[in-house]
Amino acid sequence: MAGRGREGPVHEISVMTDVVATVLREAKARGASRVLKVNLQVGELTFLGEEQMHFAFDVLKMEADHVMDDAEVAIETVRARGSCAACGYTGETAVHEEPEFHFRLPTIDCPKCGQRLELTDGRDLYIRDIVLEVPDDEGGACMDGGGTGGDGDA
Ligand SMILES: [Zn+2]
Repeated sequence: MAGRGREGPVHEISVMTDVVATVLREAKARGASRVLKVNLQVGELTFLGEEQMHFAFDVLKMEADHVMDDAEVAIETVRARGSCAACGYTGETAVHEEPEFHFRLPTIDCPKCGQRLELTDGRDLYIRDIVLEVPDDEGGACMDGGGTGGDGDA
């Protein structure tokens, strides 16, 4: 048991590497010229630092591709939620601060009956949506009445 509880920014960087890769794949698939914004939902039980994620995103987007030069990331925290098999409670779990450790620990016990909750939310990170700028170079310009032949010359 070495290094328990030591999570440096390495964690955020590896997570954001995946995010940026996914965003780039999506941008290419849609022929986007620029990525404007990436909206993330981050479960509080991931213990990812918001500041570190912003930092990692800014570093990675510069390495990634110019398509992401102006991209911003917005991070929305998702509260941990669970459901209790014992009493039927569903909802948020309580979170208590551990000021000694500068740490927030969600208590995953049912706030009603104290049994252990089955966690349903708060453990994952999702890309909620990506705002892309897609050049408008297809579609349109197809009004009816093209000028192909048909004009007899009397
Ligand atoms: Zn309960």
